[in-house]
Amino acid sequence: MSTRLPREPAAVPAELQARLERAGLRRTLATRAVLGLFLNNPQGMLSHAQAMAALQLRGLEINRVTLYRLLDRLAACGVLQRQADDDVRTWRYSLADLEQGLAPRFECDACHRQFRVAEGSAPTRVAATDLLRTLARLGHQGLRVDVAIHGTCAGCLPAPGVSKHKRPLR
Ligand SMILES: [Zn+2]
Repeated sequence: MSTRLPREPAAVPAELQARLERAGLRRTLATRAVLGLFLNNPQGMLSHAQAMAALQLRGLEINRVTLYRLLDRLAACGVLQRQADDDVRTWRYSLADLEQGLAPRFECDACHRQFRVAEGSAPTRVAATDLLRTLARLGHQGLRVDVAIHGTCAGCLPAPGVSKHKRPLR
């Protein structure tokens, strides 16, 4: 049984608040409600349809298109992150990971594992600051930097000198 009163909204972390303000997003009832969905479940991922259903459960009637635009804008300014869900051809949204926000994402082209390289955060931050400054000089407003590196992971690379993987013998 769900009450029609919205739950007490979770506090918006300062960094996310700053991103909202930089993007000029007004804190409408809909924006607060959508943010609340993610703040109350920081690890959760929601598709548009799931977010829509959750909002309706809380008694908020929101237009489908309005919700699409809102999710997109929140993703564009780095408050949410989105990932393609190829199975159902849709986007899934989750709260931006502030800790790992600037850790580059590494994807192994052999085994397709993806992971964040926390050790890369500091150099990425330096590069990102530089890039955003360059953009600003050109009159653009960069809001978010996402670094992705493709390659072969340690597990898939043959260890030097050790023939762990099958290699032709000479
Ligand atoms: Zn691999």
